[in-house]
Amino acid sequence: MPENIAEPLLKWYDKNKRILPWRDKDNAYYTWVSEIMLQQTRVEAVKPYFQRFIQELPDVAALAAAPEERIIKLWEGLGYYSRVRNMQKAAVQVMEEYGGRMPEDFETLLSLKGIGRYTAGAIASIAYGKKVPAVDGNVLRVYARLTENRGDIMKQSVRKSVENDLTGQMSEDRPGDFNQAMMELGAVVCVPNGAAKCEECPLGHFCLARKHGTVEELPVKAPKKARTIEQRTVLVIQDGVGTAIRKRPDTGLLAGLYELPNVEGHLTEKAALARVKAMGLEPLRIEALPDAKHIFSHIEWRMCAYRIAVSSLEEAPQGEFLFVDKRESDKKYAIPSAFRTYTRYMKEENS
Ligand code: SF4
Repeated sequence: MPENIAEPLLKWYDKNKRILPWRDKDNAYYTWVSEIMLQQTRVEAVKPYFQRFIQELPDVAALAAAPEERIIKLWEGLGYYSRVRNMQKAAVQVMEEYGGRMPEDFETLLSLKGIGRYTAGAIASIAYGKKVPAVDGNVLRVYARLTENRGDIMKQSVRKSVENDLTGQMSEDRPGDFNQAMMELGAVVCVPNGAAKCEECPLGHFCLARKHGTVEELPVKAPKKARTIEQRTVLVIQDGVGTAIRKRPDTGLLAGLYELPNVEGHLTEKAALARVKAMGLEPLRIEALPDAKHIFSHIEWRMCAYRIAVSSLEEAPQGEFLFVDKRESDKKYAIPSAFRTYTRYMKEENS
């Protein structure tokens, strides 16, 4: 690692940093919430979620005490719902064991549910000024290019050696800003896919990849395993007043969330009607809806769908389904974005 990157990096950051609702607040809870939301989601998409979440649950105590259905609803659309469930478990732990104040120390933060090395480093350095690194994908990219390091960035051993190296580089007085500056540089200048803006980079002078023309070869990342493709048929089952939804099992993919009924495979119209009859309902009409696709981290759903009008949803087996209109579902029941194409066909109002 070249010496003295901190000074030009911080100078650049002071001039160019984006204004973000969680930035410059010295509030460990804000840092925590934003960092968890930002895993897998873009900054622009996170902003409104963050504001809504903080407005309703302004501190650790409020998060610890909130009903689970409510926090899931506030998270709806961000995906990876175990993240917010773990946050709540950690909030309860902070209330019970640390008097409601987020711990300052990296190792203690790491012991909280759902907080990994990156998030612990971000909270300790940004909110409490501790000299610990916070290495995310952006930082790894900048580092790999700067040092022309060809280690596989998916490996823990490579990440740990990056952390060690960066700790030696961090400024004593502004470790939080140093970490944020590295992340920001990766997010807006040292970007992936052939778009790195090396001519604007405050570290261009030190950068080995730039010097040797290897920017696009770095970072090295072992290829991911291919996703499993699953075919599903979604059934939008409606009577004059509502649409059927049901709760998913408490474990596994999208655990505990609500969904439109769906089954494995791509059913024909005839098979879909038979399915609905087997539920004890009397179908009146069927209409094919557009196909849709949703990508999870390891699975891809390829969906076909039907809207099926039935005589009355009350004939369905008790307890398996809830019958709701769109407004009620928007207010109370978190339906994951995998079903977004089809939730817009839900009945507007149950009146
Ligand atoms: S000079 Fe280019 S490749 Fe090197 S750190 Fe800056 S933006 Fe990244």
